[in-house]
Amino acid sequence: MKKTVLFCFILLISGGLCAETSKHKLPKQIDPHSFANFDEVVVTHMSLNLQANFKKSRLEGSNTLRYQVLKPTAKHLILDTRDLVIKRITYPGSKKELKAKWHLIQADNGLGAALKITLPENHPDLTIHYHSQPQASGLQWLTASQTAGNKHPFLFSQSQAIHARSWIPSQDSPSVRTTYTATITAPKALWVVMSAQNQAEKSADGVYHFNMPQAIPAYLIAIAVGDLAYKNISKHVSIYAEDAYLEKAAYEFAETENMITAAEKLYGAYRWGTYDLLILPPSFPFGGMENPRLSFITPTVIAGDRSLDSLIAHELAHSWSGNLVTNASWRDLWLNEGFTTYFEARITEAVHGTERMKMEAALNLQGLKAEMAEMDPKYQALALKENINDPDDVFSGVAYDKGRFFLEWMEVAVGRPTFDAFLNKYFDDFAFKSISTDQFLQYLDKHLIQPSQGKITMKAVKQWIYEPGLPDTLPVPTTDRFKVIDKQVADLTINDKGLKKIASDQWTTQEWLHFMKALPEQLNQKQMQALDNHFQFSQAANAEIAHVWLMMSIKNDFQPAFARLISYLNEIGRMKLIVPLYQALAESKAHQNLGKNIYQSARPGYHNLARYKIDPLFPDMKFETQDAK
Ligand SMILES: [Zn+2]
Repeated sequence: MKKTVLFCFILLISGGLCAETSKHKLPKQIDPHSFANFDEVVVTHMSLNLQANFKKSRLEGSNTLRYQVLKPTAKHLILDTRDLVIKRITYPGSKKELKAKWHLIQADNGLGAALKITLPENHPDLTIHYHSQPQASGLQWLTASQTAGNKHPFLFSQSQAIHARSWIPSQDSPSVRTTYTATITAPKALWVVMSAQNQAEKSADGVYHFNMPQAIPAYLIAIAVGDLAYKNISKHVSIYAEDAYLEKAAYEFAETENMITAAEKLYGAYRWGTYDLLILPPSFPFGGMENPRLSFITPTVIAGDRSLDSLIAHELAHSWSGNLVTNASWRDLWLNEGFTTYFEARITEAVHGTERMKMEAALNLQGLKAEMAEMDPKYQALALKENINDPDDVFSGVAYDKGRFFLEWMEVAVGRPTFDAFLNKYFDDFAFKSISTDQFLQYLDKHLIQPSQGKITMKAVKQWIYEPGLPDTLPVPTTDRFKVIDKQVADLTINDKGLKKIASDQWTTQEWLHFMKALPEQLNQKQMQALDNHFQFSQAANAEIAHVWLMMSIKNDFQPAFARLISYLNEIGRMKLIVPLYQALAESKAHQNLGKNIYQSARPGYHNLARYKIDPLFPDMKFETQDAK
């Protein structure tokens, strides 16, 4: 209600047509998470001209859109927005600036507001003059103290799933692809990068120009502005990072070029030119984000031994599955993430060997089973039958790991050469297109199921895609390296003497994680102390190992680890690592207050998406600012 009044005020003073929600119906939707009428009028190119205003925490300027009318009877172009202040809309190119008729229709279902613009005759472009607001769900504005360098602020975007609309008025559906150019102005001390071709040198005047000549969905448009340094590490790969992370990242991700070579050998040419990595400040809510040409990466995978670089394999694999062939709606997310997780495993296998790939598979399966044990069955199908309000809720292990094991099951059934040939053709046939689960099934039937002559059937495929749980046909990953650990744990007495017998000298991160997860859930103080004395888990530099240890410490009330727990939760914002810790704290009567105290101090440094997941864990806490979601 309050928002409608505010919008009307802004529209009235800016000369647009003010619209009460009651007077204008929300448009009919083609994509359940977008208001865009892309079956009638489709945006084909966007030209952004924005200034990063750190004082006001907003991007301000304009977006000039080129559109194509598909239905001659169409009268409007409809875009998605969320919390944007639209100042005016004009038609460029005419001698006298022509103002467009437009209005915003606010939705109350979390999708933002539809921006409905009346189409004039004979104008193929229009310019929207606007700015974002500090609460933009797709932008995080960090203060200098929230960065490693401590001197300059930092801005980064996270547009997936439907957050591009909070900083770019756009047809924010994965079914709509546009090219884009951008001119971005930032304070001179800072470097601007985008999901496009990036510069190898800092601009002297703070103005940066970008061109993305390949058509991509709005969720892949990305920006970051910060005190960045640059290092080229191989033919395709350069790293952008704060100085503190640059050399460490260059070492950690040195295999990236080999990963590109391996990926091309598997599924065809890398089609995007360069492949750069941007290392974000630790508050980045995800492991990585596959923004084309410039993957966004959490620093929490910098382990010092390249043991967590499968994340790079994952983001790189998205250059085929996701960025090249894209899920048509967020209900089909498994087509992006399941394919990518499978492809990631194949790259990891090629670069680091089968054992590493199998260990990761076993850990992922263990995690998936634990997640599914607490999940409503309706969310356990790969393709969700019912609508989901918030597409961020689809991002579970089901889309990723169940999707991956589904593909692996097909690979085993038809044989690797046949399956690889199928995937090659699939990536070619659907390159730069979006695809739904139904379209995929038709394609699969024709190109793999029928030729397989009974090795796989549509019935078995549909069980994977539409039924909850994991089918009996699941290919269970096994590895001798974990069997050796299981044997040691079975014989283990957890005290100083017993732990000395554990042969851990050559263990990789994956073996450590398996060892810790194989220990009994209930451990007494002496046992926890013995483990910490022997392995120094409370000081673990590896963020994944520290995470498992802190989970064990909360569950077993091992207070000597709590100083690390406090610093860990204050330092990083990657949801995979922090949300389960808060869950464990919130569920424990003894530690709920500790959880609240930590959250109170850490929350300002967290991304909107992380707050959205953690706020409900502490329902009686009151927060100063209301977030966009
Ligand atoms: Zn992914």
